[in-house]
Amino acid sequence: MNLEPTEEQKQIVATVRRFVREEIVPLEAKLDPDASELPREDFERLTNKVREMGFWGLDIPAEYGGAGVDMVTRVLMAIEMSQHRAGLYVPCYGVFGTAGLAQLYEATEDQKQRYLHPMLRGEKRGFFGLTEPSGGSDPARAIRTRAVRDGDDWIINGSKVFISGADRAHFGLVFARTDASKGRGGVTCFLVDTDMKGFHVRRVVHTLRSSHYATELQFEDLRVPNANILGEVNGGFAIANERLSRQRVPYAAACIGVAVKAQELAIEYAKQRETFGARLATRQAVQWMIIDNEIDIRSSLWLTLAAADKVDRGEPFRMEAGIAKLVATEAGGRVVDRAMQIHGGYGMTKDLPFERWYREMRIRRVGEGPNEVQRHVIARDLLGGSLR
Ligand SMILES: Cc1cc2nc3c(=O)[nH]c(=O)nc-3n(C[C@H](O)[C@H](O)[C@H](O)COP(=O)(O)OP(=O)(O)OC[C@H]3O[C@@H](n4cnc5c(N)ncnc54)[C@H](O)[C@@H]3O)c2cc1C
Repeated sequence: MNLEPTEEQKQIVATVRRFVREEIVPLEAKLDPDASELPREDFERLTNKVREMGFWGLDIPAEYGGAGVDMVTRVLMAIEMSQHRAGLYVPCYGVFGTAGLAQLYEATEDQKQRYLHPMLRGEKRGFFGLTEPSGGSDPARAIRTRAVRDGDDWIINGSKVFISGADRAHFGLVFARTDASKGRGGVTCFLVDTDMKGFHVRRVVHTLRSSHYATELQFEDLRVPNANILGEVNGGFAIANERLSRQRVPYAAACIGVAVKAQELAIEYAKQRETFGARLATRQAVQWMIIDNEIDIRSSLWLTLAAADKVDRGEPFRMEAGIAKLVATEAGGRVVDRAMQIHGGYGMTKDLPFERWYREMRIRRVGEGPNEVQRHVIARDLLGGSLR
């Protein structure tokens, strides 16, 4: 396997790196440490710049006007794009265009007109509503929200938790049980408008993350037309699962980018800070932290590139994506923690990006499928289907 970047990929990486260092980092220095948005005029200026560079819409297929890059290039770009304070959850403050809900590419023409195209034009925002109070690790069994057919409509009752950004969304995907006798084969995905009668944002939940609050949703006799089913009746779980597996690869890459930057800052600091008459960089205790960081970064990088390569080859990649996700999220947490330690008291301040990375990186071991669940899935692949 040759995972050496091509000349073109090297150029792309250099361009994105320059963009982050010259455009994003200086602007970010003027923002609140927890900010997740750029001022409107900066956002528009930089979005135009990204469009001129040909990188706008990284996760949008080329036929819809996106950059349509392969997964290995996407990973290399994600590693660069996350190298700033807000980079883990809002890489480059969204000026490369956000993917939105990738499931909408599978929608009918009518659904695309009503949801996909307005979302791509930035006119509508969507949410992804899978997790429920009864659990998110095993949604196929946990989903209690029910949808019952009533003529040309479906009536939805139930609730969701931890749904990111539903308080600011115009619509969302709601996964509901349509066949109580089946597990994963009894869930359907509905396109729901947030102004429909019976849709309630019950509570905004504040988490460790600085951006996109999680919400609790309640559906009370929410009437949704049959035309708003995404995919097939009882085919919703496959829609949720495919997206989640694929997304784990760039998710891992963003953790690597933060770790790379944390390591760069730690090395710089260790070389200039003196204690007891010598530079920190000369102390073996500090050197070992830097060495362990490097091992964590390189192992995450190669495993994530290997997963991306499988995606690009069109081969099964679920296990590789799970391994990349769990290794990069755990390694990322350790690297940020060591870099903070090397920075002493300064590492704890909001003047430096570490405290935000430290908080937000912690979510990554639970988000997109907890790491124990990744291990559970990998065990299933290694040991066979007999394992429940
Ligand atoms: C900030 C944030 C944003 C989120 N955004 C969204 C969103 O937009 N849409 C959405 O649908 N969901 C979202 N989630 C929910 C997230 O996907 C779930 O929290 C996650 O899937 C875990 O589900 P749970 O919290 O119900 O934990 P549970 O399923 O109750 O699991 C609890 C813990 O048990 C352990 N565990 C579970 N299964 C196993 C097993 N088989 N073996 C060993 N240990 C196990 C794990 O450590 C796990 O963390 C978000 C969560 C957070 C924190």
